[in-house]
Amino acid sequence: MDSNRSMNSDKLNNVDPSEIQKFEKLAARWWDSESEFRPLHQINPLRANWISSKVNLAGKKVLDIGCGGGILTEALAQRGAIVSGIDMAEASIAVAKLHRKESKLEVDYETTSAEKLAVEKPGEFDVVTCLEVLEHVPDPRAIITACRTLLKPSGDIFLSTINRNPKAYLFAIIGAEYILNLLPRGTHDYQKLICPSELASWCRTNDLSLKDQVGLGYNIFTKKYSLQKNIDVNYLAHYTP
Ligand code: SAH
Repeated sequence: MDSNRSMNSDKLNNVDPSEIQKFEKLAARWWDSESEFRPLHQINPLRANWISSKVNLAGKKVLDIGCGGGILTEALAQRGAIVSGIDMAEASIAVAKLHRKESKLEVDYETTSAEKLAVEKPGEFDVVTCLEVLEHVPDPRAIITACRTLLKPSGDIFLSTINRNPKAYLFAIIGAEYILNLLPRGTHDYQKLICPSELASWCRTNDLSLKDQVGLGYNIFTKKYSLQKNIDVNYLAHYTP
């Protein structure tokens, strides 16, 4: 699997066009909280609060990589950060820009890649977030390297993805996509899911160490998400240089 990832990787073009198409098709529904993006809307306050419990966002320069329609990006701006959001799906960036007008928040959006921005703006950001993106890119390690390059010498990186193990397959793919219909079928590819140990080793090679990580659980009876200790399925991680 690692060799496939490397074969596909291209430093400045670490993008899977079929993944981008998947999100472009749904772009009009980014802000419909009952749409395919319902899970992201539901977890948004939890993850934004977790991030702001780790770092005081007020006045901080934040970059949100793979921002989609801006669900997390806006939440970070609401918490006082000076936020830029980037995504490779042009239609999603267009939606994010439209929504920004409605919510009257100052967020800077651009259709570009983390790798390209890392060449243009190294060391510019206090905080870099890249949530629910790594499992959609051919070479997630290259994104982490770009995150590190974009970060100021002392800053905070927040990453989230889905663990890769039989339980994650059952809950995040079979359960969420086929039984509960929380996500469209084919949203996640098991091979591209990422174990916390893999994430940690890619971060270590970029001189980043793990400060904390937390799991995200879904209760099928209450239909509510919560933060939890268990990181067997969805998890969020905080890394610093
Ligand atoms: N981070 C957002 C959206 C997650 S959905 C949130 O958590 O709310 C995954 C997003 O990653 C989509 O918007 C998709 O267009 C984007 N994406 C996929 N590959 C990418 C790449 N190589 N570079 C930047 N964004 C990418």
